[in-house]
Amino acid sequence: MKHQIRYTGGDLDRANDRRKDTGWLSAQLSHPETHIVPIWRNLNLVEGMDDGTDHNVQPEAIIFPGHEAAHVISAAEEIVFLGLRESRAVFGADMSSHEEDRVNQTVGRGSFVDLRQAGPVINAHDATLMAYARGMLYWHRQHRYCGRCGHQTRSEDGGHMRMCSNDACARPTFPRTDPAVIMLVENKPEPGEPPRCLLGNHSKWAHGNFSTLAGFVEPGETLEEAVTREVYEEVGVRVSDVRYQASQPWPFPASIMLGFWATATTTDISIDDDEIQDARWFAAEEIRQFGDWGNMDYPNRLPRKDSISRYLIETWLDKVSGKERSPD
Ligand SMILES: [Zn+2]
Repeated sequence: MKHQIRYTGGDLDRANDRRKDTGWLSAQLSHPETHIVPIWRNLNLVEGMDDGTDHNVQPEAIIFPGHEAAHVISAAEEIVFLGLRESRAVFGADMSSHEEDRVNQTVGRGSFVDLRQAGPVINAHDATLMAYARGMLYWHRQHRYCGRCGHQTRSEDGGHMRMCSNDACARPTFPRTDPAVIMLVENKPEPGEPPRCLLGNHSKWAHGNFSTLAGFVEPGETLEEAVTREVYEEVGVRVSDVRYQASQPWPFPASIMLGFWATATTTDISIDDDEIQDARWFAAEEIRQFGDWGNMDYPNRLPRKDSISRYLIETWLDKVSGKERSPD
C-alpha cells in the first residue's frame, strides 16, 4: 500500500489465548525481558520530544524491559496484557493516579506527550502499540463502576474484561471502541471541469485547517446511512454511492474511524455553524497548494499526517491524477 495509515498494522500478536492464564501472566510480569508501556493520563512516554534533548535525535517511544520496570509496575494502578512481541509479553501500565513530579521520577527519562504529537514521527509499529495501550487504559479508567448497579468493577482476563464486584449483578463489561464514519465526498464534474472534493474546517480549529467530514455512528443506522446523514447535517449536501475505503483505530479517546468515499448528488453548501465554520469544494490542483497541518505560512492546510482524513485525501489525489493505475 502506497499511503500507510498510522496506528494500524504493527508487529504485535494479541495472544488472546493467554489472557485467562493468570499464572503465566504474573510470571511474565516479573520476567526480565517483558515489555512495559507506561501511560499517564492519556499520554505516552517518548524520548526526544520537548524534554530538552537534541531535536536532531529521532523521537522514540520508551518501552521498558522488565528488568528496568519494577518501579513502573509497582506504581501502576492498572496493568493490561497487550500481547506478544517477538515472543516477549507486552503490558500497558497506567500511572494516572500519581502527580506529575512523582510519575516523572518513576520513569526517570523521556516525557509524557500526546500521541497525536509523537505518532507521526516515532517508529510506526511503536505508534500502533502506543495507540492500543492508550485506548485500553482509557477504557479501564472510564469503567471503574458498573453501568447497571453502580458497584465497583475489577479487571479480569489480563485487562480485557471488567467484572462487577456485586455478586448479585456480576455484569461483565468489555473494552469498547466507538465507530465513527469519515468520508471524502467527491462531485460529478461537468464536462471540461476538474473533479472536486468537499473539505470542511471545524468550528474548533484554526481557520484554514481542512479535513474530510466525520461523525459518530448512531444506534439503529448502517455505516452508509451514517455517512449520508452526517454529510447532510454538516454541509447540506446529499450523497450516494458510499464506498468503504479503509479504517483506523483512533484512541483520542476511544474511536475507530471508518473511512469512505461518497459521490455528491447536490453541490450547494449549507453549513451547520455549530460544527463547521467553512466548507468548500476543492480541485486537486488547489489541494496540492495546501500546507501541512500547523504550518501557518499557508492559508489552507491539510489534516494531520497521522489521520485517515489525510489518507483519504491523498488517495483521492492519486485517483484524480490517474496515479492509481501506474504499476508501482
Ligand atoms: Zn453491577
